[in-house]
This record gives sequence, structure tokens and C-alpha cells, in this order.
Amino acid sequence: MSVQATYLGMPLAIDDLDVENLAYFKHCAAHNFHLQKCAKCGLLRYPPTTACPWCMNPKSDWVPVEAKGAVHSYTEVHHAIQPAFKAHTPYLVLLVDLDTQKGKPTKDEALRVVGNLTTPDGKLAPAEMVKKVGIGTRVRMVFSDVAPGLALPQWTFDETARQPATVWRYPQE
Ligand SMILES: [Zn+2]
Repeated sequence: MSVQATYLGMPLAIDDLDVENLAYFKHCAAHNFHLQKCAKCGLLRYPPTTACPWCMNPKSDWVPVEAKGAVHSYTEVHHAIQPAFKAHTPYLVLLVDLDTQKGKPTKDEALRVVGNLTTPDGKLAPAEMVKKVGIGTRVRMVFSDVAPGLALPQWTFDETARQPATVWRYPQE
């Protein structure tokens, strides 16, 4: 069954035919992070897709994955192209290297999961929190509930992790 909802005034939809994303977001709605594990080579993949990017096998199983990692890269948005985000600038779009499967199948690979920086309860992070995050910050996944049956995976500070002494950020004004 397709999913339709509104997030910050914007329509979000997952089509009936998009079975991989319907399955992925069904787990997210229950605040669980699951990824597809290839039935042939055993590697996890992200984003959800129809075949393994490493061995092309179409068979996979959804398995629970620990959603913790470190910021690989980020974009700090000051001028919202999408008007719905205007009230929330500056906000961060994070690309996070999961600890799970980092360095496989080659040393430069990782499962890199995109999401916004949020507070622990899944609200877009305030400016003072945005300023503290850079490349290397340890984060954990949280979920922003959008509607019944839809929650967005997001990232917040991992309070239990040892944070690096310094993180890389673009030069600040
Ligand atoms: Zn495979």
C-alpha cells in the first residue's frame, strides 16, 4: 500500500511499485532501522534497491542494523531552496558512515546514510547545536514521526559515544 503524508507542508509519497522503500519505511515507522542483506554475498546495502550493487543478486533479507556512526560529510543550509525549511535555517544535512560494515567491501567503502541533524526527539536541530557538528562527530539515529506509517530516519549526537576532541567544519564567519 502506498504512503502519502505531509512534512513541513510538503507532500511526501512512496508509490505502490516502490516495494523496497515501502519495506524500508515500514521499519522506520516502527522506529527500527533495517537494511537489505544480500542473500548471495551477505553484504548490506543502502539506499534500498532491487539488486545487490556488489554482486547483482536480486535476493535479500531485511535485517536489523545498529544505526550509529560518524559524520562523513555535511551540508549546512543557510538559504533554504525549499520554502518549507526557511524557518529552520541554518540546518544540517548529514552523510553518516555507519560503524556496521565500515571498510567493506573495500577500505574506502561504508554504508553512508543521509539525514538531517535533529534533537533527540527528532526535531530539526537549533542553530547552537548545528555549530557543534562537523566531520567526525559521533551520531546515532532517531526518527521524526511524520504521519501514521511514516517516520524519517534522522541523526542526533550520540551522548554515549566518545566524541573527537575536534571536528572539521568549514571556516566560520
Ligand atoms: Zn551481493
